[in-house]
Parts: sequence; structure tokens; C-alpha cells
Amino acid sequence: MTGISAFRPTVATINLKNLAYNFHSARKFIGEDVGVMAVVKADAYGHGAVECARLLVSEGAEWLAVAIPEEAFELRESGITAPILCLGGFWSGQEELLIDHGITPVISDTARANLLDLAARKKGKTLKFHLKIDTGMGRIGVRPEDLAGFLKNLANLKSLSLSGAMTHFAAADDLAFSDFTNAQIDRFEEALKMIYEFGHSPQTIDLANSPAAVVYPRTRSSLARLGGVLYGLGGDVLPNGVPVPDLKPVMSVSTIVSHLKTISSGETIGYGRTFVAKDTTTVATIPIGYHDGIPRMLSNRGFALVRGQRVPIIGRVSMDWITLDVSTVSDIIVGDDVVLIGEQDGAMILAEDIAGTCSTISYEITCGISQRVRKEYIRKEN
Ligand SMILES: *Cc1c(COP(=O)(O)O)cnc(C)c1O
Repeated sequence: MTGISAFRPTVATINLKNLAYNFHSARKFIGEDVGVMAVVKADAYGHGAVECARLLVSEGAEWLAVAIPEEAFELRESGITAPILCLGGFWSGQEELLIDHGITPVISDTARANLLDLAARKKGKTLKFHLKIDTGMGRIGVRPEDLAGFLKNLANLKSLSLSGAMTHFAAADDLAFSDFTNAQIDRFEEALKMIYEFGHSPQTIDLANSPAAVVYPRTRSSLARLGGVLYGLGGDVLPNGVPVPDLKPVMSVSTIVSHLKTISSGETIGYGRTFVAKDTTTVATIPIGYHDGIPRMLSNRGFALVRGQRVPIIGRVSMDWITLDVSTVSDIIVGDDVVLIGEQDGAMILAEDIAGTCSTISYEITCGISQRVRKEYIRKEN
């Protein structure tokens, strides 16, 4: 923010050392011969796409992946030159921008292939794209029964080059669906055969997301597309009871005690008066709320850490403030550090813990930490 030199003490601390640790830990686990496409979509799952992408590329990630072209342009404008795959293809009018920025789109329908070919031809260029096969996810991707038709049409698109083939798993994180996951792999191998029969020789073959790469060795091809494990979010996207790489959380979210007060039995706290004090209660107010990405669902259910102690959120989480019952924390003072996600004096709250309380996954929690929360990066010393 230009001109502002002092800030609200609410910060998301992004530990790039842990990001690097996770990258190497995952790569070692999966096998050094498998390349890594580091998925930095959604602002690197809320961790800051440009900083995370730079770090991951410097650690050796061969590719980056984003969801939409705008995310790719941001990386290019920050000087990142690594290959970037745009997982969600492109939107009408973005074809030329993709070509100008050197972004590789995923294509999963004939209409977009035709548009892209036209744009590439106009510019006198050949554009590489990756073909996505829908083997069971059911969102995007050419369905196996439509593949021959897609490839026949592609034969006329002289300005396109099919340089990669991929698919995406619906339930690689759930061992109860291992038959389905294996069937997805079989379907992909069939599709790949047809792609070769039509005379294409894609160099980049990638199937695996984090859980597939960890749990299904068959999915480890030339590249694995890793998101969650890089950010240390293995807890609820990798199955239990199987070997997994060691991972460390990358994001912590913290603030300070802004106001302290003591209320009497019968007094209430916050909107809707949902918390009623049973006894004399010490209440700490902290400057963070649901606009910052702390779910309102944590009202009267979540926790924070103060002086190494877990203390309950009382009352409603509001847009900009949260109230804590700190009656058990002796010597607490205004200005004490408060951790919402992360570690403090040996106590820990994981994004997974918050996700569990909110019936979601940790990805939604870290993605939800908003732009209003300042980011600070812990860098590897050089
Ligand atoms: C998000 C995404 C990934 C990464 O998934 P993780 O579970 O975070 O590793 C891989 N491939 C595609 C197509 C995706 O959309």
C-alpha cells in the first residue's frame, strides 16, 4: 500500500523455508525422476503466488500451474519465465494474450482448439497446448468417446501442437475408491494410445495431483502436479494409514491482543448475544474477522493461542473482530501475540483443525485468508 508505513498487526506469515522443505520432501518421496509442476493457482492456495512460484522454481520445479490466464499473466509480469500451464484453459478474447505471454493452455474441447489455432495462425506462430482427458472427474476434459473426433479435427489445426496430455483424479485421496482411481489410470492409458496413433508425441504426461502422486506409483509419469503437499496441507488430502512424505505447515496467521476487559456473570459478547458469561470472564478482542478469512463458523467453536495456551473464541466471529475468553491466561496484556493458525510455544492450531470444525478442507481455509491480511515471508538465508 503506497504511502502507508505502519500496519494493523494482523499478518499471514509464509515460511518459504518450509515450502522448500516440503518440495524436496515430496520430490524425494515420489522419486527424483518425476518432474514437479508446482500448482500455484488461487494465489498459491492463499500463500502468495509470485513469492511461492519464485521459490519453487529456484528449488527446481520444472513447471508452474495456474487456474486462469490472469494468474499466469501476473507471474509473467513479475518476471517469472518458467513454463506455465493454465489448467482452466482460457476465456474468449484471451487467446492472443496467452501467446504473447508464452502460457501453455489446457484444452479440452474442439471449440477452444479452433479458436486457439486461429489466433496462433494470425500471429504466425505454432502454439503448444496440453490435452486434458476426462477419465472420471466429470468437470472438464475430452471424454474418451469424443477423443477420436477431437483428434480428427485437430489434424486440420496446423498452428497447434499437442505437447502434453493429462487427466485429473476424482478421489485419489480416498482408498475406498482405489478401484475407481485405477480405472481412471487405465482410461488415460487407452486415451494416450489413441493420441500416439494419431501421430502426436506429447512430451509432458501428467496425471497425478498430491494424493495420487503419493499413493499411486502408477500415476508418476514425467510430471506430477503438486499443490497441497507443497503447502504442508497433507493432513486431510492424503489418506491415513499409508506412508506419506514428511511435511511442514507453511502459513501461520497471527495478530495481537487489542483490547482487554473483564465482564460479569450474565453479560453477553458480540452480535446476537450468543455468548453469555457464566462467571467473571476476561475477554480479549483481536483485530481479525471473517473478512480476513477466519470463518464465521468458528463463532463459539474455534480457538486461538495466547501465551502458549489454547483459548476459546467466544461470541460471533464478526467481519473485523474476534473475542476470546482469556480468563485462564495469567498476566495477559494488550499487545500479546495471538495465533489463529500456526504454532506458539509448543501449542499448535493447523488449518486442518479449523477446516474440521467448519466441515471443509484446509485448502479452503488457506485460500480464504484474504488480501487484507498482510503477508510476511520467512526466506531461506542465501
Ligand atoms: C488443483 C489441481 C491440482 C493440484 O491438486 P493438489 O491436490 O493440491 O495437489 C492438480 N491438477 C489439477 C488439474 C488441479 O486443478
